Amino acid sequence: MKEEAADPRGCPTCGDPLIFEILDDERFLVAWSCVNCGVIRTTEPA
Ligand SMILES: [Zn+2]
Repeated sequence: MKEEAADPRGCPTCGDPLIFEILDDERFLVAWSCVNCGVIRTTEPA
């Protein structure tokens, strides 16, 4: 079995896999973007 909706790195809008870009290496700030619809999410450790 395979769960496709459980991927936290998928686009919340279209479901495509997001590509990531490291914004700040020391703070582990990463931007996730979707090439399909342009959604950009940033993640930062709490
Ligand atoms: Zn998308």
